[in-house]
Amino acid sequence: HKQPYDEGNIFARILRGELPCRKVLETDHALAFHDINPVAAVHVLVIPKGAYVSWDDFAATAPEAEIAGFVRAIGETARLVGAEPGGYRILANSGKRAGQEVPHLHVHLFGGQPLGPMLA
Ligand code: 5GP
Repeated sequence: HKQPYDEGNIFARILRGELPCRKVLETDHALAFHDINPVAAVHVLVIPKGAYVSWDDFAATAPEAEIAGFVRAIGETARLVGAEPGGYRILANSGKRAGQEVPHLHVHLFGGQPLGPMLA
């Protein structure tokens, strides 16, 4: 099941270059950029380039090459921002109940500080 995708969402506009972002990494399948409102010393968002609303949508319908490219890009982003040696956290809010605000799949990467228990 492919969820209907709103081409006007803010991350679609960033992907089209209509809005700026502080880019960390761009690959064939993914874009990583700093969150505009960071809640940790390092707070980066990693998004697939394809039009996927949520984790559920992506996991169920994306071609395997896109899934592999996206997963690898998350790991590469952690290395690029220096989060890997100290440890980091990845999180995806999927759907309304989880508080997903932007309807284009994004994985949050938190690091650069001790993170304590799970972030809300
Ligand atoms: P969600 O609540 O959907 O999991 O997370 C959305 C995230 O996107 C929030 O952490 C918010 O700060 C971030 N965000 C919203 N609009 C923009 C934007 O225009 N640019 C960037 N870089 N981040 C954004």
